Amino acid sequence: MKTLKNYPEKEIVRLIQEHWIDEDDLVESGICPVCFNQEHNNVLYGKDMILYEDDDFVCFFEDEPRAEGHVVIYSRKHYSDLSDMDFSVGQKIFSFTQKMISLLKEVYHAESVYLCSINDGEVSHFQLQLIPRYHNEKTGTYNFIKHRRPYVEDSEKEKKLHILLSRDFS
Ligand SMILES: [Zn+2]
Repeated sequence: MKTLKNYPEKEIVRLIQEHWIDEDDLVESGICPVCFNQEHNNVLYGKDMILYEDDDFVCFFEDEPRAEGHVVIYSRKHYSDLSDMDFSVGQKIFSFTQKMISLLKEVYHAESVYLCSINDGEVSHFQLQLIPRYHNEKTGTYNFIKHRRPYVEDSEKEKKLHILLSRDFS
Protein backbone atom coordinates (compact mmCIF):
# COMPACT_ATOMS: atom_id res chain seq x y z
CA MET A 1 0.00 0.00 0.00
CA LYS A 2 1.21 3.47 -0.92
CA THR A 3 1.95 5.65 2.06
CA LEU A 4 -0.89 7.92 3.04
CA LYS A 5 1.46 10.56 4.42
CA ASN A 6 1.28 12.69 1.28
CA TYR A 7 -2.47 12.42 0.90
CA PRO A 8 -4.59 15.42 1.85
CA GLU A 9 -6.29 14.67 5.18
CA LYS A 10 -9.70 15.19 3.59
CA GLU A 11 -8.91 12.40 1.14
CA ILE A 12 -7.84 10.07 3.98
CA VAL A 13 -11.14 10.80 5.75
CA ARG A 14 -13.05 9.90 2.57
CA LEU A 15 -11.11 6.65 2.16
CA ILE A 16 -11.93 5.70 5.76
CA GLN A 17 -15.61 6.60 5.39
CA GLU A 18 -15.85 4.51 2.24
CA HIS A 19 -14.05 1.60 3.93
CA TRP A 20 -11.09 1.55 1.55
CA ILE A 21 -8.66 1.87 4.43
CA ASP A 22 -8.71 1.38 8.19
CA GLU A 23 -6.58 2.23 11.21
CA ASP A 24 -3.93 -0.36 10.26
CA ASP A 25 -3.27 1.53 7.02
CA LEU A 26 -2.78 4.74 8.95
CA VAL A 27 -0.36 3.04 11.33
CA GLU A 28 1.60 1.61 8.37
CA SER A 29 1.90 5.12 7.00
CA GLY A 30 3.15 6.46 10.33
CA ILE A 31 -0.07 8.32 11.14
CA CYS A 32 -1.45 7.97 14.67
CA PRO A 33 -5.04 6.75 14.22
CA VAL A 34 -6.15 8.01 17.63
CA CYS A 35 -4.87 11.54 17.00
CA PHE A 36 -6.32 11.42 13.48
CA ASN A 37 -9.64 10.27 14.89
CA GLN A 38 -9.76 13.16 17.34
CA GLU A 39 -8.86 15.70 14.68
CA HIS A 40 -11.52 14.38 12.30
CA ASN A 41 -14.75 14.04 14.23
CA ASN A 42 -14.31 10.42 15.37
CA VAL A 43 -14.13 9.11 11.83
CA LEU A 44 -12.47 5.86 12.96
CA TYR A 45 -14.03 5.12 16.32
CA GLY A 46 -16.15 6.43 19.12
CA LYS A 47 -18.72 8.24 16.98
CA ASP A 48 -22.11 8.17 18.75
CA MET A 49 -20.60 5.71 21.23
CA ILE A 50 -18.91 8.07 23.66
CA LEU A 51 -19.62 7.38 27.31
CA TYR A 52 -17.49 10.11 28.77
CA GLU A 53 -14.97 12.70 27.61
CA ASP A 54 -13.08 15.61 29.05
CA ASP A 55 -9.86 17.53 28.31
CA ASP A 56 -7.66 14.58 29.28
CA PHE A 57 -9.33 11.39 28.04
CA VAL A 58 -12.21 9.80 26.15
CA CYS A 59 -14.15 6.61 26.95
CA PHE A 60 -16.39 4.94 24.38
CA PHE A 61 -17.99 1.62 23.50
CA GLU A 62 -15.89 -0.48 21.16
CA ASP A 63 -17.84 -0.78 17.91
CA GLU A 64 -16.64 -4.36 17.38
CA PRO A 65 -16.60 -5.57 20.97
CA ARG A 66 -15.11 -8.80 22.26
CA ALA A 67 -17.86 -8.88 24.89
CA GLU A 68 -20.92 -6.86 25.76
CA GLY A 69 -19.77 -3.72 27.56
CA HIS A 70 -16.28 -3.71 26.02
CA VAL A 71 -15.06 -0.13 26.37
CA VAL A 72 -11.95 1.74 25.29
CA ILE A 73 -10.30 4.65 27.03
CA TYR A 74 -7.65 6.79 25.35
CA SER A 75 -5.79 9.89 26.40
CA ARG A 76 -6.43 13.07 24.43
CA LYS A 77 -2.75 13.85 24.27
CA HIS A 78 -0.40 11.56 22.37
CA TYR A 79 1.45 9.48 24.97
CA SER A 80 3.15 6.41 23.54
CA ASP A 81 2.41 4.45 26.72
CA LEU A 82 1.85 4.86 30.43
CA SER A 83 5.52 5.57 31.19
CA ASP A 84 5.24 8.65 29.01
CA MET A 85 2.15 10.11 30.63
CA ASP A 86 1.74 13.10 32.95
CA PHE A 87 1.14 11.67 36.41
CA SER A 88 -2.04 13.71 36.98
CA VAL A 89 -3.57 12.43 33.72
CA GLY A 90 -2.75 8.83 34.67
CA GLN A 91 -4.37 9.35 38.06
CA LYS A 92 -7.54 10.68 36.45
CA ILE A 93 -7.71 7.84 33.92
CA PHE A 94 -7.20 5.14 36.53
CA SER A 95 -9.70 6.62 38.91
CA PHE A 96 -12.21 6.62 36.04
CA THR A 97 -11.21 3.06 35.10
CA GLN A 98 -11.84 1.91 38.65
CA LYS A 99 -15.34 3.37 38.52
CA MET A 100 -16.00 1.91 35.06
CA ILE A 101 -15.01 -1.59 36.16
CA SER A 102 -17.40 -1.45 39.09
CA LEU A 103 -20.19 -0.16 36.82
CA LEU A 104 -19.62 -2.91 34.26
CA LYS A 105 -20.11 -5.36 37.11
CA GLU A 106 -23.15 -3.55 38.47
CA VAL A 107 -24.95 -2.63 35.24
CA TYR A 108 -23.78 -5.33 32.82
CA HIS A 109 -23.40 -8.04 35.47
CA ALA A 110 -19.87 -8.82 34.37
CA GLU A 111 -18.32 -11.34 36.72
CA SER A 112 -14.95 -9.73 36.19
CA VAL A 113 -13.42 -7.14 33.89
CA TYR A 114 -10.14 -7.71 32.08
CA LEU A 115 -7.93 -4.72 31.52
CA CYS A 116 -5.22 -4.41 28.92
CA SER A 117 -3.08 -1.77 27.35
CA ILE A 118 -1.45 -2.80 24.11
CA ASN A 119 0.89 0.03 23.29
CA ASP A 120 3.52 -0.98 20.83
CA GLY A 121 5.05 0.03 17.53
CA GLU A 122 6.15 3.33 16.07
CA VAL A 123 2.71 4.91 16.20
CA SER A 124 1.46 4.01 19.63
CA HIS A 125 -1.12 6.12 21.47
CA PHE A 126 -1.99 5.25 25.07
CA GLN A 127 -5.23 3.36 25.40
CA LEU A 128 -6.90 0.91 27.72
CA GLN A 129 -9.31 -1.84 26.79
CA LEU A 130 -11.83 -3.04 29.37
CA ILE A 131 -13.28 -6.42 28.42
CA PRO A 132 -15.97 -7.96 30.62
CA ARG A 133 -16.04 -11.67 31.36
CA TYR A 134 -19.45 -13.15 32.09
CA HIS A 135 -20.44 -16.06 34.34
CA ASN A 136 -20.82 -18.51 31.42
CA GLU A 137 -17.32 -17.79 30.07
CA LYS A 138 -14.08 -19.45 31.10
CA THR A 139 -11.46 -17.42 32.91
CA GLY A 140 -7.99 -16.59 31.63
CA THR A 141 -6.16 -14.81 28.86
CA TYR A 142 -8.59 -16.23 26.29
CA ASN A 143 -10.82 -13.30 27.21
CA PHE A 144 -8.45 -10.85 25.55
CA ILE A 145 -8.93 -12.54 22.17
CA LYS A 146 -12.59 -13.44 22.21
CA HIS A 147 -14.16 -13.04 18.78
CA ARG A 148 -15.16 -9.54 17.86
CA ARG A 149 -18.78 -9.00 16.90
CA PRO A 150 -20.84 -6.02 15.84
CA TYR A 151 -21.96 -3.73 18.63
CA VAL A 152 -25.49 -4.40 19.84
CA GLU A 153 -27.19 -1.51 21.54
CA ASP A 154 -28.85 -2.00 24.91
CA SER A 155 -30.34 1.41 25.57
CA GLU A 156 -31.54 0.57 29.08
CA LYS A 157 -28.11 -0.49 30.30
CA GLU A 158 -26.44 2.41 28.51
CA LYS A 159 -28.81 4.89 30.12
CA LYS A 160 -28.16 3.44 33.56
CA LEU A 161 -24.42 3.53 32.95
CA HIS A 162 -24.59 7.20 31.93
CA ILE A 163 -26.61 8.11 35.02
CA LEU A 164 -24.33 6.29 37.46
CA LEU A 165 -21.22 7.61 35.75
CA SER A 166 -22.42 11.19 35.85
CA ARG A 167 -22.59 11.04 39.65
CA ASP A 168 -18.80 10.94 39.80
CA PHE A 169 -17.76 12.20 36.39
CA SER A 170 -19.61 15.02 34.70
ZN1 LIG B 1 -1.76 9.87 18.90
